[in-house]
Amino acid sequence: MEGGYVNEGGQLKTKNGQKYVFNGPPSGVYVSKPCLVVTAFIMVVILIFSILITYFVTSHGLGKPEANPSYITAQAQSKEHPEGNSTSVATAQFHVPDWLKDNFHTSTSSPNRIKDEENVVVPPVVKEEEKTIVPPVGDIPVVKSEGVNDDGDDITKPTDRLLQLHEGWRPIHYSIVIEPNVETSTNNGSLVIEIERDAKITSWEPIVLDVYNVSISNVRVIRSLEGNETDEVELDFDSDYGENNDSFVVKLNPSLASETQLKIALSLDFVSQVTDTLQGVYKTSYINPDTKKTEWMISTQFSPIDARRAFPCFDRPDMKANFTISIVRNSNMSMALSNMPKYHSDTHRLGYIRDEFMTTPKMPTYLVAFIVSNMVDSQYANSDGQLFPRVEIWTRPNFVDMTNYAYKMVRKFLPYYEEYFGIKNKLPKIDLVSVPDFGFGAMENWGLITFRDSALLVPEDQELASSSEHMQYVAQIIAHELAHFWFGNCVTPKSWDDLWLKEGFACYMSYKALNQAHPEFQIMDTFTVLEFKESMQHDADNTSHAISFDVRSTSDVRRIFDPISYSKGTILLRMLNSIVGDEAFRSATQDLLKTFAYANIDRNDLWVFLTRHGHEMGTLPKELNVKNIMDSWITQPGYPVVNVERRGANLVLRQERYLLPARNPLDKQRWFIPITFETDDLHKGDNIPTHWLTKDQEELVIPDVFTKETNNNNTVLYLNLNRQGYYRVNYDSVSWLALKKNFTLLPRITRAQLLDDALHLSQAEYLPYDIPLTFLLELYTSVDDELLWSAAKPGLNYLIYNLKREPAYETFRAFMKFIVRPAFDHYGLNEPDNESHLQLKHRALVANFACKFNYDRCTQVAQMRFREWMRDAKKNPIKPNLKSVIYCTALSEGSYPEWYFAYKQYKRTTSASEKEEILTSLGCTSKPWLLSKYLNMTINSTSGILKQDGALAFRAVATNAIGYEIAFDFLQTNIKEIADYYGDGFSTLTEMIKSLTIYMNKDYHKQQLQLLAANCHKLGLKAVESAINLAMEQVNDNIYWRTHSYDKLKSFLESIVSEFQINIF
Ligand SMILES: [Zn+2]
Repeated sequence: MEGGYVNEGGQLKTKNGQKYVFNGPPSGVYVSKPCLVVTAFIMVVILIFSILITYFVTSHGLGKPEANPSYITAQAQSKEHPEGNSTSVATAQFHVPDWLKDNFHTSTSSPNRIKDEENVVVPPVVKEEEKTIVPPVGDIPVVKSEGVNDDGDDITKPTDRLLQLHEGWRPIHYSIVIEPNVETSTNNGSLVIEIERDAKITSWEPIVLDVYNVSISNVRVIRSLEGNETDEVELDFDSDYGENNDSFVVKLNPSLASETQLKIALSLDFVSQVTDTLQGVYKTSYINPDTKKTEWMISTQFSPIDARRAFPCFDRPDMKANFTISIVRNSNMSMALSNMPKYHSDTHRLGYIRDEFMTTPKMPTYLVAFIVSNMVDSQYANSDGQLFPRVEIWTRPNFVDMTNYAYKMVRKFLPYYEEYFGIKNKLPKIDLVSVPDFGFGAMENWGLITFRDSALLVPEDQELASSSEHMQYVAQIIAHELAHFWFGNCVTPKSWDDLWLKEGFACYMSYKALNQAHPEFQIMDTFTVLEFKESMQHDADNTSHAISFDVRSTSDVRRIFDPISYSKGTILLRMLNSIVGDEAFRSATQDLLKTFAYANIDRNDLWVFLTRHGHEMGTLPKELNVKNIMDSWITQPGYPVVNVERRGANLVLRQERYLLPARNPLDKQRWFIPITFETDDLHKGDNIPTHWLTKDQEELVIPDVFTKETNNNNTVLYLNLNRQGYYRVNYDSVSWLALKKNFTLLPRITRAQLLDDALHLSQAEYLPYDIPLTFLLELYTSVDDELLWSAAKPGLNYLIYNLKREPAYETFRAFMKFIVRPAFDHYGLNEPDNESHLQLKHRALVANFACKFNYDRCTQVAQMRFREWMRDAKKNPIKPNLKSVIYCTALSEGSYPEWYFAYKQYKRTTSASEKEEILTSLGCTSKPWLLSKYLNMTINSTSGILKQDGALAFRAVATNAIGYEIAFDFLQTNIKEIADYYGDGFSTLTEMIKSLTIYMNKDYHKQQLQLLAANCHKLGLKAVESAINLAMEQVNDNIYWRTHSYDKLKSFLESIVSEFQINIF
């Protein structure tokens, strides 16, 4: 301890409480005396020179980026703007549009404010001034190099930290100046946060800011004096980093504790990291097609908890504030974007430009975003200049002509949402940006939506054209992100516990919007297969979690971005829609959004509004309220099976939890289940439930459903109309038989539902396998029923994975080949022009099954087409919808020439969706060395495989029956390297582990996993260790199935194959 510094836990701290992060162990060299004298002389010269420079700079008022801290110039401003009120601290220069006044805490008199409320437009472009400015002399400490913390540990590896919820203070406004630097991988910045004491908290608490790997200096706390707003004073305080350096704590003098209305401005400078793990502020690169040189760019991904990596903040969804952002960029980067329109741009210092953006509406930190790059716009804002909001799409110059489809979709969805929600979009502009490497599919940052390329770009030229599936994906993802502007951005869940609220709403609304924009997609029918598959698959065993999750740690936050929050969330909202009816659902949503605009809600708020509107419309019986119904679905994991029994004239219903690996009659979990049903005589016509199977009822008896004449195996009865309820239905044998007999007469969704339910009920021992196998035979004749074929896919995939390495696969393959043959013979691998979206998708699915089950007509044609492409690489003859099946089949049946050709095309193509198709197919090869090579490429930054695609590539290998052991070996050998390479932002490693388990169904597989878990434990990879424990449960399920169901299924298959005289070759 010397020179006024103390060393505490790896940090150097000044006596004033400022801290500087210690960069590593001290080091030194021996020097002689003369050398010391010369050095001292040089030092003195440098010192004098520095003083002169400093004097010059300060006398000219130039310096490092400043976050408009008005307290510094308060007196000057008070003369110009005498009407400034008590909140002039840190807000006097903010640019606040009038429409924001309602959600902006302060009534400022900003000189930059837009005057006309009706005409909120983008401010005129400000011409950059040409000035020669002396470079800044900053006092921000140099920080450690990226990736190493104070203890010399790697900081990018997946870590788990408790989420601390500190109360007592709330942010009102952030003014941020940030200068991201690609070369040094750091952000230099300054920040002023206007903070008010939370009147609800009576105890005297410190101000606690979230930080992660951020150095802080020059902390000041200012307040304006009572009754004299322009006169501001600095307050005494103590500041310190919190435990593990993941917070920054400012303690004000307790003498202020009696003031409940306290408001202060906290000003500080910071240095944070530009990461390369796609989280926080991160850098990514692409090759400029003209210069062939690497171009770097800066992007951000703050959701869910990485704003704290960029700047100190109250990093919680309920701590909403206004943000005024300024970005300093090197002038070799042509543009900067942020959430709001830019209103001023100026030379900041030589070679640097400062862009200032208008103040955002009140919003949480996770929605803050900015981009600094050389991307170009697609000129939509110019051509549609009269439209509000201004919409622009930014991408690399060679991708501009791939943005038309996305633009059209935005213009279709926006009016739909404004209509549906009854609230106009108020943001003056929406920028959509395709980011070369991006962890999620897209991110709904308010006013600046970021996408991975494949989620935004739709090539339109013949060779690169996208599949129908891909176009649907792009449309849906845009619809999802735009829906967040209302649900998520304007009205935000209070905590991550209710993430499902915003994600469920955005997903559900995206279906509604897409249904309206493209009715021919029949997307609501697809919902009943796709979302149910996603959700039920993850919600079936004891590892599942309640949709409302008690989020305690950082890895909990990342974990809840899963199909339970998204797919189960959207299924439950659709179920609620059916319970209260369309009108009540819509008016309740409108009412909720208006009431809580710019604020936060929890699920109980939604229940109250739905109950009120349901009662008013008369759709919800007065004795029911939504909370009572929904609590059972929200607070417990899993979903029920409704068991159906015909008892005389009555219909009797019971419930139990659907559980893997097998039903458990002792499980006591129960739900409040909406019941709808139809029989031959009774057709309801709508989705509103007529009966309720409650939690406390042993059984629900619905009397007089049948007469003596109708109670036989010719009378059809089916439940859960249009699959509005989140449950499976298990019928008694009479009913199954009747349904099978009358299958072709049933509604489309019911047919799909029966096949899916039957396959999954057998998987968990609710039903013997002969029933789903009989329903599978329906595919033989229903060659056109695309929904039925889609519904078969999840159940069939489970069987494929569990049989592929077993002798019974021979019979199963023969059986399935027999079933898919008529459909493939009908559709083939030729795609006529002008086919509908659904037909295109359906042909691809049929071909996928046909080639998967080695129907030689499929595999041979697929190989032929691929070879045709290999002969002339520049002319791909394969139609977009068939690429997936043809690429995979050709690589699986072929050898290394096919594989290398595909990899070459991967590097060559400019289409992101094409890249994804090829990445998946590279994992289809049957050559072990190629699979191993491929996996190694996923941790090599020069291979061309982006980090965003690591999990996709790994999964492609792990789902290959030959590849999964190679994938396991790769993971075991390289676990630390993979963890370091991918960081913890997007759970890439967790995703990899999940995809490993599908073929594991033997006891020794468990031991392998245990070894991997022990290895992770040793390396301190806690989050990965818990992912392995979850995977273990999946392996247990598979082992159980192998022990209990395999032999029975095998004999059913053998008897069917013999009965239908199916050739097994
Ligand atoms: Zn979302």
